[in-house]
Amino acid sequence: MSEKNKREKYGPATTLPLQQSFVAGSYLASESGQRFETRHPGNDQVVCDVEVAGVREVDCAVAAAREAFESWATTPAAERGRILRRAAGILRERNAEIAALETLDTGKPIAETVEVDVLTGVDVIEYFAGVAQSIHGQHIDLPPDAFAMIRREPLGVCAGIGAWNYPVQIAMWKSGPALACGNTMVFKPAEQTPLTALRLAEIYTEAGLPDGVFNVVQGAADTGTALVNHPDIAKVTLTGSVETGKIVMQQAARDLKKVTLELGGKSPIIVFDDANIENAINAVLVGNFYSSGQVCSNGTRVFVHKSLHDAFVDRLGERTRAIRVGDPFDPETQLGPLVSREHYDKVLSYMQIAKKSGARHVCGGDPIDDGDLAGGLYVSPAVFADCGDNMQFVRDEVFGPLMAVLKFESDDEVVDRANATPFGLSGAVFTSDFDRAHRVANRLQAGIVWINDYNVTPPEIPFGGYKHSGIGRENGLQAIEHYTQVKTIYANLGDVPRTY
Ligand code: NAD
Repeated sequence: MSEKNKREKYGPATTLPLQQSFVAGSYLASESGQRFETRHPGNDQVVCDVEVAGVREVDCAVAAAREAFESWATTPAAERGRILRRAAGILRERNAEIAALETLDTGKPIAETVEVDVLTGVDVIEYFAGVAQSIHGQHIDLPPDAFAMIRREPLGVCAGIGAWNYPVQIAMWKSGPALACGNTMVFKPAEQTPLTALRLAEIYTEAGLPDGVFNVVQGAADTGTALVNHPDIAKVTLTGSVETGKIVMQQAARDLKKVTLELGGKSPIIVFDDANIENAINAVLVGNFYSSGQVCSNGTRVFVHKSLHDAFVDRLGERTRAIRVGDPFDPETQLGPLVSREHYDKVLSYMQIAKKSGARHVCGGDPIDDGDLAGGLYVSPAVFADCGDNMQFVRDEVFGPLMAVLKFESDDEVVDRANATPFGLSGAVFTSDFDRAHRVANRLQAGIVWINDYNVTPPEIPFGGYKHSGIGRENGLQAIEHYTQVKTIYANLGDVPRTY
């Protein structure tokens, strides 16, 4: 199929007009005129230019959000919920269009973005739209003559900073709870994927969200820094790498701003000898190769009991070789390109490191740059077996389609090895033994552990990391704690004792 036919059949136009920041309900031109490009990873061609938000535009966005906060914080929760639900309805109606835009920007297969990226974000907006009305305080009786009220109040203007792997989902996971709690937000998408947060902002406006409640500023680390350092920001919520998390937390500490950090991972999946093997393999494949492996919670260290190790690896190799790598706009494609040239080079260098590590190369790890895929940032999914815990590619977060399989013998040994990492985002246990599943899940140092499943994140359950994988939680009622603060009001009904 020719490139033109493919686009007509599957995707939007490959070029878009200049994109800008979205402030107080409309687009804002950048005073400096400075621009960056966003590219489609399927062919590494420029999709459009985007204007950088400098200090002036960040100031405007924060001022708009601060002004809007006054009335949004006192808008009845039912009304806040209604607006969020209306936005969710429009997002669902426009799922196909936004998913295609996400595929254009990220290179993720359309089969994924249509099923997951927009809809799992919308699920979270709907969840918090429902929760808005149940956010409440407490009354504490203090007899004989006093009582206290605990009010739960919004924080103010929250800065949201996103990663490029789930751009629109991250924007919704942050704005949904923040807005439901009565905060306003200035959101900065990753510079590699600036497009879909703007559609979200337009849709919020269409749904009746007052101007300034949700704003988008465009740019890279400089824009993020200006936002984090802004004195009128009350809280920063970042999804990104551990390195950026440390910098953002240090910057936020200067003003004692609150932070939530959703950072990287190198999570373990443990397959015991009594596991259902096909289920485990299905989960291991999704937990390594979905979104070309560019998922923070992926289970990239797969510990397999020695009694089934060899058969498991043979089957994994067979299944991995059958994964259809291709144009992300082709609905049959299961694995698309990596997000950017820079990331592609990094992932390929790790494939080389893995090939030279002494681990057994089962399959994949090669660039694919011919036929229909010429010019794109494609890498075949790789499996390495007989890996050592201290091999560099087994220790580092690669964020690409690179799976390490490790052999183990005992429960205690595998728990110690699984925990021997500075990360602690997630993990999984595959076993048919109920007691063992829970014993091991309890001992894993991770913010979320799945038993006989992987990477399932409904909005009702908190998501976030232990150790270097993060601070705070997104989703679930726990998120409310991170977007509100508690005020105690003590009321005395009697006399004040005379002490002096
Ligand atoms: P990154 O840290 O390079 O960038 C993340 C965001 O931070 C971008 O918007 C970037 O512009 C901004 N940024 C960079 N430097 C900044 C600074 N000094 N001040 C303020 N903002 C700054 O991460 P990435 O490469 O975009 O994303 C990949 C990483 O994100 C991986 O480590 C992955 O594990 C992690 N991630 C975590 C989760 C999670 O929920 N735990 C989800 C997705 C991705």
